[in-house]
Amino acid sequence: MRFSGLRVLKEGLTGNKGWRPHWRDPAPKPEYDLVIIGGGGHGLSTAYYLARDHGLTNVAVLERGYIGGGNIGRNTTIVRANYFLQGNSEFYSHSLKLWEGLEEDLNYNVMHSQRGILNLFHSDGQRDAAARRGNMMLSQGDDAILLGREELRAKVPFLNFDDQRFPLYGALYHPRGGTARHDAVAWGYARGADSRGVDLIQNCEVTGIDVENGRVRGVQTVRGPIRAKKVAMVAAGRSSQVAAMAGMRLPIESHILQAFVTEGLKPVIDQVITFGMGHFYISQSDKGGLVFGGDLDFYASYAARGNLPTVEHVMEAGMALMPMIGKARVLRSWGGIMDMSPDGSPIIDRTHIDGLYVNCGWNYGGFKAVPASGNVFAHLLATDQYHPAATRFRLDRFRTGRGILDEEGTGSQHNLH
Ligand SMILES: Cc1cc2nc3c(=O)[nH]c(=O)nc-3n(C[C@H](O)[C@H](O)[C@H](O)COP(=O)(O)OP(=O)(O)OC[C@H]3O[C@@H](n4cnc5c(N)ncnc54)[C@H](O)[C@@H]3O)c2cc1C
Repeated sequence: MRFSGLRVLKEGLTGNKGWRPHWRDPAPKPEYDLVIIGGGGHGLSTAYYLARDHGLTNVAVLERGYIGGGNIGRNTTIVRANYFLQGNSEFYSHSLKLWEGLEEDLNYNVMHSQRGILNLFHSDGQRDAAARRGNMMLSQGDDAILLGREELRAKVPFLNFDDQRFPLYGALYHPRGGTARHDAVAWGYARGADSRGVDLIQNCEVTGIDVENGRVRGVQTVRGPIRAKKVAMVAAGRSSQVAAMAGMRLPIESHILQAFVTEGLKPVIDQVITFGMGHFYISQSDKGGLVFGGDLDFYASYAARGNLPTVEHVMEAGMALMPMIGKARVLRSWGGIMDMSPDGSPIIDRTHIDGLYVNCGWNYGGFKAVPASGNVFAHLLATDQYHPAATRFRLDRFRTGRGILDEEGTGSQHNLH
């Protein structure tokens, strides 16, 4: 089923009776060439690119809940390519380019909006760091503009420019950054993978990984065993639990990150604004809600809701940055499970078990990575070669200490990046 303006018009005039489910609901087959554990953004995009780019369609995505029920549907939807270090920068650059063609590629409206991102700074030292980052972004082919205080004021006059502790000196502006509708991204990839023959199997929790003589043979699930030549673990916040089924201990801690949304308001915030010093960021959804968040709850947990001290901290930071937010009523808040890696960068690699692969460690930023992650992981799964945009996300960097991608310079402290 293809979408077009004409089709939408016709359905609108005939009671919307012609739409069909966007993907099938198949029973699991006894055997697949490849099984993907996890039907989040990364699992679904991997399945899509396996089919689209490599012709691999005897593939199943096994999801313990429902498609889009994990972190892919819980994030604050920011999409950007503003990384400093090589290793990360070419990967996120690749991802943003895929985002820019995604709606046409998927024939699906994911509401990708390149409204721009403003990263605020508050001192001369931070301006220098922002200029360095901007130069790296430009040399990588991404876009960056260093804004002074008055240029920033022209864009966002409602910010508190003279806060005693964090006066605003300016911002690094990334015009191609923005947001996208997170559920639609999951649905678009799911629809694209399904239409190419991939089986998306919901309510199918994987409970074990079968390994014989150092080679993966398949998985155990609540819907019975499934044999597979290759198995890809793409379980985000639950990556450690899934890898433990194969006897592996990943360098991942699972932490809660909260998000908040207010009642719908008239358009007031045109860009995404990040206030790093206050651990606060905000944008406005197309429905009008102010969508904002802060830092982790700072204790490891698999709970999908957060605690009040962090709520208070986020609200305080919001009030410090833009006091007018005090008038908006918070409608909802929720939490998601973040797979935090020691250097804040992801892992996309083979494992020591033949045929078993891992994709995890997305920290705060796995939504914007969804297109590139699936694209490069599919390449690795299909060819056993690293994609040129993702050669550094190796699992052994934590054992050898070589190739650590410490973007924020905060080393192995999970709670500092
Ligand atoms: C509050 C919040 C705000 C965020 N904001 C941003 C942002 O603005 N920008 C950004 O880039 N990133 C953001 N992120 C991060 C981003 O959402 C995640 O990094 C990303 O969604 C993780 O990848 P995923 O979509 O594949 O995860 P998920 O959607 O969680 O997918 C993993 C799937 O694996 C399934 N699974 C787990 N165990 C099993 C099993 N045993 N068997 C079968 N299935 C299993 C789960 O049910 C789940 O559906 C945010 C995250 C949160 C929580």
